[in-house]
Formats: sequence, structure tokens, C-alpha cells
Amino acid sequence: MNYFFWLLGLGAIFTLLERWAPRQERRLLRKGWATDLTHILMNSFAFPYLIGQIVPYQFPSLHLGWAVGLGWAGQFVLMTLYCDLAQYGIHNLLHRVPFLWRFHKIHHQAPTLDWMVNWHFHYAEVLVYRSLLYVPAGMFGFSGEVMFWHGVLGTAMGHFTHSNLRWNLGRWRYVLNSPAMHLWHHAKAPKNKNFGMVFSIWDWLFGTAHFPADDPESLGIAGEEGAPQTWMQQLVAPFKAT
Ligand SMILES: [Zn+2]
Repeated sequence: MNYFFWLLGLGAIFTLLERWAPRQERRLLRKGWATDLTHILMNSFAFPYLIGQIVPYQFPSLHLGWAVGLGWAGQFVLMTLYCDLAQYGIHNLLHRVPFLWRFHKIHHQAPTLDWMVNWHFHYAEVLVYRSLLYVPAGMFGFSGEVMFWHGVLGTAMGHFTHSNLRWNLGRWRYVLNSPAMHLWHHAKAPKNKNFGMVFSIWDWLFGTAHFPADDPESLGIAGEEGAPQTWMQQLVAPFKAT
């Protein structure tokens, strides 16, 4: 199964949903769409392909392949839980370590949320997440097919939680992340809330959940107007002295 078709299909589904029941009315080609389309193409295909050409994906097996015995479903469940908890921790660090925040703030400089913003991030994040999630998974014997479907799930949930929709998932809010919850992660204030990706459990467990009934006053980073606008400016911004 080709990831490109999943990316295209999920993009089409969320574009239609956002037209049908938007949280905020806005034009289809809203400001910054070309920059975000470039992020999508570069972060999902071009950069991973280039890295694949330079770095051979050959990791020592370490004879740790115990996950093989779990079967497909067991591997998928364990991989989803493990990766989501790891992402919760990594995402926390991206916010709290100043050097890492220089890269992650590109994602938070997006002034609005819709599914395209899911891809509006610096490529360094792909390197960090891929190496910390998928390299250990490969070493522990998780199959390539399970990793692929985990990637599809991550894309679907990322599109969903960033989408311009008003869904809060009712009681399921204590288990799963949602557009209404993730909106508060992108709020100017309060900072450092709702770090979860697929599951919201980690935020409720570790005290970082913030989920009032209303919407945040504004999105973005307080006191940081004049953020880099083009894809190239956003790519080089973290390396510039501040
Ligand atoms: Zn963040």
C-alpha cells in the first residue's frame, strides 16, 4: 500500500470535512497554503527520500526481536502505545529545552489551525521522531508493515487534531486527542498544555491537560509577530542567532 495515496486520501477527506462543518469560516486557499503544501511535500517525501539515499537503513539487530512473537495486532497496539508515550515525552522536551524550541516553534508560528498545519514543522522534527521511535522499533523486531500502518494512523490523527473542526469527542476526550483539545496546545496562553498526539491519557495522567469548553482567544506565540513566512525562511530560522 502506497503512503502517497493515504496522504492524498486523508487530505481530501479533511478538506471536505472542513468545508462541511468548519470551526471557523475561511477560504479554501487561505493565507500560507503554498508554504504548507511545500512542507507537506518536503516532510513526507523529499527529505525522507534524501536521507534514505545518504544513510543506509541498516541497524544492528542486537538479537532483541522479541516483538516478532506478538503477531500483527499485538505489535500494532504495543507500537501505538509505546510511540505515543515516547512522543508525549519528546514533545514536552521540544517545548521546554530552548535549543529544541527553536525548531518546534516553527510549528507553533502557524496563525491558524487546519489539517495542512499538521505538516507545518521543521524537518529536524522528522529526524528526531523517526530516529527515536522507529529505529528502536526496528531493533525490537516490529515489522515494517506495522510501522507503515502506525505511520498512517499518525497521519490520520495529526490531520484530525489540527483540523478546522469543532469536535471534542465527548467522554472519549479522556482517552483520545481531538481538534478542540489540540487547539489549546496552540493557544498563546496558557503555555505547555496538551502534548498528546493520538491519546490524551498522558496529559490527564501527568497533569498537562487543559480543556475548557470555549476556544482560546488567539493562537500562535505571544510577542512573536513577524514570524518567517516562506518555507525556506522557516527552514533556516532555527540556525540564525537570536
Ligand atoms: Zn507543540
